[in-house]
Amino acid sequence: MPNHVLARKWRPQSFTEVIGQAAIVQALTHALESGRLHHAYLFSGTRGIGKTSLARLLAKCLSCEKGPTATPCGQCHPCLTIAQGNYLDLLEIDAASRTKVEDTRELLESVQYPPIMGRYKIILIDEVHMLSGHSFNALLKTLEEPPKHVIFLLATTEPEKLPNTVLSRCLHFTLKPLTNDVLSEHFNHILQREHIRFDPNALTLIAKAACGSVRDGLSLLERCIAFCGSDITVAKISELLGLADSHTVQQLLDTLIKNDAVSGLTLIRALAEKGADFSGVLEAFIELLHQLALQQVLQKDNPTLLSAERIQLYYQIALIGRRDLPLAPDPQMGFEMLYIRLLSFQPWHEENEVLPVVKKKLSIPAMNPI
Ligand SMILES: [Zn+2]
Repeated sequence: MPNHVLARKWRPQSFTEVIGQAAIVQALTHALESGRLHHAYLFSGTRGIGKTSLARLLAKCLSCEKGPTATPCGQCHPCLTIAQGNYLDLLEIDAASRTKVEDTRELLESVQYPPIMGRYKIILIDEVHMLSGHSFNALLKTLEEPPKHVIFLLATTEPEKLPNTVLSRCLHFTLKPLTNDVLSEHFNHILQREHIRFDPNALTLIAKAACGSVRDGLSLLERCIAFCGSDITVAKISELLGLADSHTVQQLLDTLIKNDAVSGLTLIRALAEKGADFSGVLEAFIELLHQLALQQVLQKDNPTLLSAERIQLYYQIALIGRRDLPLAPDPQMGFEMLYIRLLSFQPWHEENEVLPVVKKKLSIPAMNPI
């Protein structure tokens, strides 16, 4: 399957298909239904969460022959051509690639002319914070006295970089990052319609790896379909994402309990050879500790072997390890050091543990002068 097919195919074509942004959809629906339209909208939020998709959808609502409406028909010329990306009265600019003053000026000059066929001339500027200072001034001039037929739709990942003069003239919507549940549900919906079998737990793994971005999630889902064929399983997704399976993480914890460094380090080396993503392994380890702690307080009749203090200590060390892992020269080295730290920091002693006796005080050998 070619790249980005899913993202294009499942781009929302109506407000009911927009995921995870209920408050914004409600506000836009209300504005469209009551006819209280603004001449400039700004959509901000992290990458890949649907800012330009939402802007294009709004363009469709504004341009539909049956509109302006919150429920565009999807059949008329503007609806169809906006979906295909070639509607003449919707001008899309990617400011990340067009920052020259002349380009913006050329665009703003064309704004003075009425729309070619539609109700409004709609200017969509993506990554608007990338416009140069001169371009901002040109934009601001138009925003100050916008012709009646012009509507600006601006999108940015960094709204704080926009001048206040521009911000204050826009109706600003901040899109929320998508939760793992929302993403999993979305993937579930898509796979059912694509007739692909899946384990819901595998979708949770994909959702987590997408870090709140629907675009990244869909491109990952596409890789997963290519890798797994028509049956998406946890084992295959773990392999694709370089995740350790829960059995390996449990084994790693066992070696810590048994103070068996050789087995633990051998396991870590085997993970590295399989191309494991150590930050994912660490995350799975932290989740296991969380589960054990929950089990301890919620199911007192099902005691775990580990003391509550040891779970807390491991959890704390693992959390700090997660922060430090990217600083290590390579992830395997960082993870090995974390493992050794977990082995070393055991400030209490079990009943059957014996304190090692220091027979001779060791000192650092003196270095020979160079
Ligand atoms: Zn229409």
